[in-house]
Amino acid sequence: MAKWEYTDQPMHSEHRRADARYAEKDLATQCLHAGERWEKQAFWTSSTPIHNSTTFFYESARDLDDRVYYRKPGYVYSRSGSPTSTALERALSTLEGAEVTHVCSSGMAASHLALLAAGAGRDQLILCCSDVYGSVYTMVENIFPQLGARSILTDFSDLDRLEAIIEREKPAVVYFEVMTNPMLRVIDAPAVIEMAHRAGAAVIVDNTFTTPYLLKPFEIQADFVTHSVSKFLSGHGDVLAGSVSCYRKDFDKLHDMLIQVGCTLGPNEAWLALRGLKTFSLRMESHCANAMEAARFLESHPLVERVRYPGLPSHPQHETAARILPDGRYGAMLSFDVADCDKDKAFRFLDALRLILPATTLGDVYSLIVNPARTTHHWLNGDELAAVGISPGTFRMSVGIEHIEDLKEDLDHALKACQ
Ligand SMILES: *Cc1c(COP(=O)(O)O)cnc(C)c1O
Repeated sequence: MAKWEYTDQPMHSEHRRADARYAEKDLATQCLHAGERWEKQAFWTSSTPIHNSTTFFYESARDLDDRVYYRKPGYVYSRSGSPTSTALERALSTLEGAEVTHVCSSGMAASHLALLAAGAGRDQLILCCSDVYGSVYTMVENIFPQLGARSILTDFSDLDRLEAIIEREKPAVVYFEVMTNPMLRVIDAPAVIEMAHRAGAAVIVDNTFTTPYLLKPFEIQADFVTHSVSKFLSGHGDVLAGSVSCYRKDFDKLHDMLIQVGCTLGPNEAWLALRGLKTFSLRMESHCANAMEAARFLESHPLVERVRYPGLPSHPQHETAARILPDGRYGAMLSFDVADCDKDKAFRFLDALRLILPATTLGDVYSLIVNPARTTHHWLNGDELAAVGISPGTFRMSVGIEHIEDLKEDLDHALKACQ
């Protein structure tokens, strides 16, 4: 392990630290200012410029040498970062209450790096929640075994069973999302993290669905927090990006992994994400209010069989959600089952939507609906789908920030039109 131990405090982690000027401010203020204008210049720009430069050089060879050897903060070659991505990293560190953050080219790259940095290597076990994001599931099943790592994918909502597995198997890494997709099960994150730590495992929380607006996993001692920044943080459906936040003690390894794997975020994407982040807090307020209202509307609709939204008292883990998430903020994601729905009816429902986009992402300002059986979970057969709880008539909705009455009208129209 000596390879990862640097003798002096490396400057490359200084860059990605939380912005101390805004650490105590409200999330809404942090979204606007954190990370911006952090480096003293001859003049200030209100928005961080897009530094479209592959390489960086200095007045003297010694100045460059100081950067190559991390004696001074700065940039050498943009695979390891640019001033634009630094601004985003500082903003995300501040929002998550993290020590340091590295941004990368997608949420998948973020999960990959976090698993590597957390110790998922030869003869190590990854314990992963079975309803994690589909591509993370397949990465853990298909890619990590090539490095000699083993994996167990299991249900994280049965805590007694989970504890027995953790104690017996002694995983090196535990990976989960707090709200699962598309069943919207709520995992008791503080309890899982405590169990994992007792067994000596490092914990990665994918905070994409919950976001720092609902939950800050470092407050409950997570070791790594990952995001698909493509979703709520950037919010406008125009950029792919990911992030990993961690403690400084874990950062060198993460940084080296990122440089060697090369999944860097480009400055244009970093700028788009930073731009989107300005309104994150406002958007989340609207997302959460609309989702609550849409969930109530669907639950009372005669053509809907079941609605899953952690904010509804009927949700099986509503109490857990209320305990681990701040009051009244249950996120933008819900799922529902249209009554007596087969594939053809599901397609008619999607085709009848006039406002909500029938597309496979989430977290955008626009409302989006997918039919998991035919998209996000299409590789599962009928029995496997049923075991997860997905039927042909299950839909997952990412509730956007349109006016709620327009959303209700669109849902009602499509539900009637598909009969
Ligand atoms: C989208 C998503 C990812 C993957 O992110 P990309 O930016 O698409 O690579 C990982 N986890 C969750 C929960 C996601 O929703």
